[in-house]
Amino acid sequence: MIKLVDQLSVIKGVGPSFIAKLRKLNIETVKDLLWHFPSRYDDFSQIVKIADLKINQRATVSGLIQQVKMHRTWRRKMFIIEALITDDSGSIKAIWFNQRFLISILKKGRLVNLAGKVVEAQGGGLCLSHPTHELINEQSSINDEQQATKHTGRLVPVYPETKKLTSKAFRYLIKPALDNLENLPEILPMPVLDQNNFPEINIAIKQIHFPDEQKDAKAAKKRFAFEDLFLLQLANLAARSALSRQRSYSFEENLDFIKNILSKLPFELTYSQKKSLWEILNDLSKNSPMNRLLQGDVGSGKTIVAAIAALVAAKNGRQAAFMAPTEVLARQHYSTFKKFFSDFSSGAGLLTSGEAKIFYGENLESNLKKPELIKKIEQSEIKIVFGTHALIQKSVRFSELALVIIDEQHRFGVKQRAELLKEKEIAPHFLSMSATPIPRTLTLTIFGDLDLSIISELPKNRKPIITKIVAPENRDKAYAFIRGQVKHGRQVFVVCPRIEPTINSVQATDILVEPMTVDYKSAVNFEVKAVKEEYEKLSTKTFPDLRVGILHGKMKTKEKNEIMQNFKDGKIDILVSTSVIEVGVDVPNAAIMMIEGAEKFGLAQLYQFRGRVGRGEYQSFCFLFTDSSSKATYKRLFSIVEAKNGFELAEKDLEIRGPGEFLGQSQTGYPDLAMKAVQNPDLVKSSRETAKEILKNDFELKSYPFLRIRLEEFKAKIHLE
Ligand code: ADP
Ligand code: MG
Repeated sequence: MIKLVDQLSVIKGVGPSFIAKLRKLNIETVKDLLWHFPSRYDDFSQIVKIADLKINQRATVSGLIQQVKMHRTWRRKMFIIEALITDDSGSIKAIWFNQRFLISILKKGRLVNLAGKVVEAQGGGLCLSHPTHELINEQSSINDEQQATKHTGRLVPVYPETKKLTSKAFRYLIKPALDNLENLPEILPMPVLDQNNFPEINIAIKQIHFPDEQKDAKAAKKRFAFEDLFLLQLANLAARSALSRQRSYSFEENLDFIKNILSKLPFELTYSQKKSLWEILNDLSKNSPMNRLLQGDVGSGKTIVAAIAALVAAKNGRQAAFMAPTEVLARQHYSTFKKFFSDFSSGAGLLTSGEAKIFYGENLESNLKKPELIKKIEQSEIKIVFGTHALIQKSVRFSELALVIIDEQHRFGVKQRAELLKEKEIAPHFLSMSATPIPRTLTLTIFGDLDLSIISELPKNRKPIITKIVAPENRDKAYAFIRGQVKHGRQVFVVCPRIEPTINSVQATDILVEPMTVDYKSAVNFEVKAVKEEYEKLSTKTFPDLRVGILHGKMKTKEKNEIMQNFKDGKIDILVSTSVIEVGVDVPNAAIMMIEGAEKFGLAQLYQFRGRVGRGEYQSFCFLFTDSSSKATYKRLFSIVEAKNGFELAEKDLEIRGPGEFLGQSQTGYPDLAMKAVQNPDLVKSSRETAKEILKNDFELKSYPFLRIRLEEFKAKIHLE
């Protein structure tokens, strides 16, 4: 009897090399293995008579091995294995490349099932190309064998193949584990199964791997998707209620104070800025922590809203940390703060890996040694600190941290948050800001533990950005236009294409062969190379008379800051960069955004780039350069041209790329199925309602012991705790 908690070594035939490979996929227990679901199924359920085979058909044949031979191609030094198989209707050849081990398996006179694609053989006739083989045991009747096959003669699961493990290897491991599996406890309440027509867990886990029919696989998938969504909803609701039971500093709304701040700003807040600010202040007035996402298009003015919240904390004698994903941005926020609140005298600081600064109102700014600044933070002599993630390192201890603001990140690392809360009696309020609008279905699930404030309009002084897709033949015209703009004093961003990680594909043989390796490091190097080349071209050939600058991720922080500062100060006309400028950099005089290889970017990202311009009083332009002549690409890019707001685009992006890509690499802790199911609004809704219903009557899940255990595992896996 095999248990879910067992190590993989309990499965027959699993040796150390298998185990090592599986570990690379984070598969350590039987549970991990069985929850590694197929991505699709090949239909080899029909055993076809050899005489009835047709070209291009994918089929299983069952027959006797007449002959097996191996030879070597001299040009490509490949081993070719050929077998001749017969059934009572005829015979056919099967061919494999570089599978020398088959010689010792496919013995003359054995019965075998071969499942694969029928192709035209060299020199005429048909043959099976690289089929999956499965030897048939002569002792048992055909009918029994039918049940027991795992690679042929049935709907055959196809697994996402990675890290040296093929689908065949997975089937080889999963089938015996399923056949000897303990009885699993059902975690979904019976009424939920009934209402949704979901298969019970023991049936579902078998059917998702080795379904009798496609519809059984579908039902099982739906059940597991629901289960994941349901767990996600439970985790979010539980996180919410846990938060509501924590204590935090509460700040009275002081209207006069706020009015005074607003009156000093050079502009009036938009309606939705005011509304968001009000929602935030309302949260801050409570003594349980805020957990809020402030969402608004690029340039909609989120920073000022967050800065006012920080001022409220400082006014109450407490501290606020304002974190940005890059040093350039942290610095910008700090500078903006100094500009708008030049009389702030309670101490504002900037802490990045390269800088430590402090500001005490009008003209009182000084550079400090880092340890000095950290000491002042610890003694609460500084109330508002700007910085990168360096701010929440262990060495930095706030004594009265009341508010943490995180810019341009969907979700603040939950782990880091836990780290911050540790050893603290009083939990800080959290405010995240993001310019990537999150589609509603995602907010209801993955971001279900957050409250949402939305800034839905841009400040009134903004002109819409004129956006054009530029085909190669119009490149010169675009350059001429850009030159004209620079002559009028405007500045230009040039973004170079994103480089895909290189994929070294290896001969895709049948079992235990590495399908591909992805090399991210060399992708970064390529990206830098591309930027340098573009910079060379623009600075020496296209615009030798203009001031061209370069910015990329491999530069030293100090260099980056200098370049960015020079650009802001108008000392650079054209700034060529990688996607580092993606996040909130504010240069009001930059009026042109030129994107090379636009088709290589996601819509949301392109939208973010475009938001870098149009921040000042000038008419701004965005040029999307593409060499692609594909209609689909053009259509996709055109949705940026047409987009009225980021929300519309986010929905489209989600549709096209799926949530995994949409949310980016950092969010991959979420289960695949749930990620896909997130796009199914009905499933999202019913999972949420079910979760609410259950928690309402039984907050601690006392009457659902199995569910409670599963939930803990789930939370550990997605790092919600
Ligand atoms: P984002 O939401 O992308 O972070 P920012 O906060 O950087 O946007 O604001 C973009 C620019 O708009 C800044 O220069 C900011 O000072 C300015 N701004 C913010 N709110 C308003 C407003 N209500 N009216 C005019 N300009 C504003
Ligand atoms: Mg911003």
